[in-house]
Amino acid sequence: MTTETDTNGEAPGKVSSREGALGCADEGRWAIVLLVDDQAMVAEGIRRMLADEPDIEFHYCSDPKQAVREAVAVKATVILQDLVMPDIDGMTLVRFYRNNPTTRDIPIIVLSSKDDPTIKSDAFANGATDYLVKLPEKIELLARIRAHAKSYLALKERDTAFRAMKKMQGQLSAINNELAHSNRELKRLSSMDGLTGLANRRQFDETLEQEWQRAIRSELPLSLLFADIDYFKRYNDSYGHQAGDDCLKKVADSLQKTVHRPADLVSRYGGEEFVMILPDTISEGALTIAEKMLKNIADLKVPHKNSDSADHVTLSIGVATLYPEESSGTDELIKTADKMLYKAKENGRNCIEVAHPRTAPIKSACP
Ligand SMILES: [Mg+2]
Repeated sequence: MTTETDTNGEAPGKVSSREGALGCADEGRWAIVLLVDDQAMVAEGIRRMLADEPDIEFHYCSDPKQAVREAVAVKATVILQDLVMPDIDGMTLVRFYRNNPTTRDIPIIVLSSKDDPTIKSDAFANGATDYLVKLPEKIELLARIRAHAKSYLALKERDTAFRAMKKMQGQLSAINNELAHSNRELKRLSSMDGLTGLANRRQFDETLEQEWQRAIRSELPLSLLFADIDYFKRYNDSYGHQAGDDCLKKVADSLQKTVHRPADLVSRYGGEEFVMILPDTISEGALTIAEKMLKNIADLKVPHKNSDSADHVTLSIGVATLYPEESSGTDELIKTADKMLYKAKENGRNCIEVAHPRTAPIKSACP
């Protein structure tokens, strides 16, 4: 193999501006030509044709076995490929270039001694980009080399841009995933009561509205339980606020464990007041849950020496059930349950009061 050096004496294959020199011949040798031909005479003829072109760097390889390696090494942007060679014929070499990931897109101009349609057709079928009969006219050779090199560099630039875009998309996607995760976490935290871990008031309001609408659509009952720890102010006064917080946590935990259906929501309404949404639950079902809650709280046996209800912490619960209608809102359900809680307090605490549902159709909570 012999190599041309450029007019500045720069080593071949080290033309730095080639990638960005699309169509700008004065910016350097951006068309890198590799001639693969066993005949030194042909090589000399082509070399002379390209010698004075400031934008073309010329490399020559006479050994077909080295051709693919050479194309990679010099970073060829155009290959001039002889068809008839010893050991490996040109057609086979064209297939080799096409099967190599590094050389598969490099334009290949086949140099043939014959202007034969069958050979031409064969060459294109094997992956050749162009076909010239030896020796071509200088003006034609230059035009073909420049056109093919230019389109190859454009293709590489597109590939580079595409890879950069894909990489950016991947990064964006990762950022989006992180954001989505953070948003879910934020949403979870913003809907949670910090002390007890139950749903907070805001989550309660949203869920009640959703369940109200769902109950209207499905014509099913909706029950609400208001629960309040009896004599909680006295509890705090007797045992301190830290103990008060612990008591709230124990009660919250117990209430949460009393309901089992996914749609049931236990939330902290504020202070020592809790509220439970029980969708698709008739009055009797809600009463059963309320009774279990009272029993479970009693079973906790959290001492309360200044309670008039018992020697341990107790609850009062108000229960209301409605068949939601378009014409009414959640206010009525909340007010009724609250009123029942007030009634339970008046009736001595540690008890349950149930509102009688207004003209409700008789439906089973369990189909
Ligand atoms: Mg030959």
